[in-house]
Amino acid sequence: MGSLDGYPRFNIPGVTKPFNPLKLAKWTEEIVCRRNRDGFQERKYTDFYVAGVYRGIVTGGAVGCCLRCFYCWVPLSREYPERFGRYYDPRRVAKIMSYLAREYRVYKARISCCEPTIGMDHLIQVLRLVEEDRNIKLFILETNGIIFGAYPEYVGEIAKFKKVYVRVSIKAGTPEGFERRTGAEGRFYELPFKAVKHLWENNIRFHVAAMTDPRIMTPDERRIILEKLSKISPWLAENLEEEDIDPYDTTLIRLYKAGILHKVFPTYKVVEEE
Ligand code: SF4
Repeated sequence: MGSLDGYPRFNIPGVTKPFNPLKLAKWTEEIVCRRNRDGFQERKYTDFYVAGVYRGIVTGGAVGCCLRCFYCWVPLSREYPERFGRYYDPRRVAKIMSYLAREYRVYKARISCCEPTIGMDHLIQVLRLVEEDRNIKLFILETNGIIFGAYPEYVGEIAKFKKVYVRVSIKAGTPEGFERRTGAEGRFYELPFKAVKHLWENNIRFHVAAMTDPRIMTPDERRIILEKLSKISPWLAENLEEEDIDPYDTTLIRLYKAGILHKVFPTYKVVEEE
């Protein structure tokens, strides 16, 4: 795994140096993925369960992301990927997902709590097996679009799977908003929009979501996002899924560390341990 000196943990203004999210994706992949003796890329997961969202979906809770959004709800495995999870072979992941889909009759699956596009070989293998599986009819791929934006050929691979539906999450409409909210360098803010373009051009089934909560985003920045999407296709802007920040425990900790907890949730407190 090598040294983790300088690995970005929390998004703390003035402390966390803005990072290159593509380099962080590679670094995180080194921590959360490994190759096994059969040549398969394994990835770290903490658990597998059925979640109530999407009217029921099998969820592989995996480890590791390439952004540090201050409103993020996922477990603290995001900050400390070396401490959480066990490595799972893609064949085992698909088998567990299939079993849960059959037992709970939910027919949908996803990889969550992380950025699922980290570890391309692992994801593609899982999708290949899901494609042939009788119990799973739909795989919802939730992504921040950073890696898809940088590597169009990866999107081309995803286009081969009929069961995949993508949900891309846009973080910001400006470099400044992107850097503040995600901790990543502002110059990378266009990558999720590029991902949207690649998905559109590849005829992949998808929609766009954006965290446009007015407590953290100005109406002007929201308008910029809508305009940028409209340029690709007006349909994308018309069907934008707009999100608000929910007060999960991990979200409260991250907002607190980012210095904006009281702006978003004035009545909440985070008690720090000595
Ligand atoms: S909100 Fe999504 S993209 Fe942002 S840090 Fe959390 S898991 Fe990563």
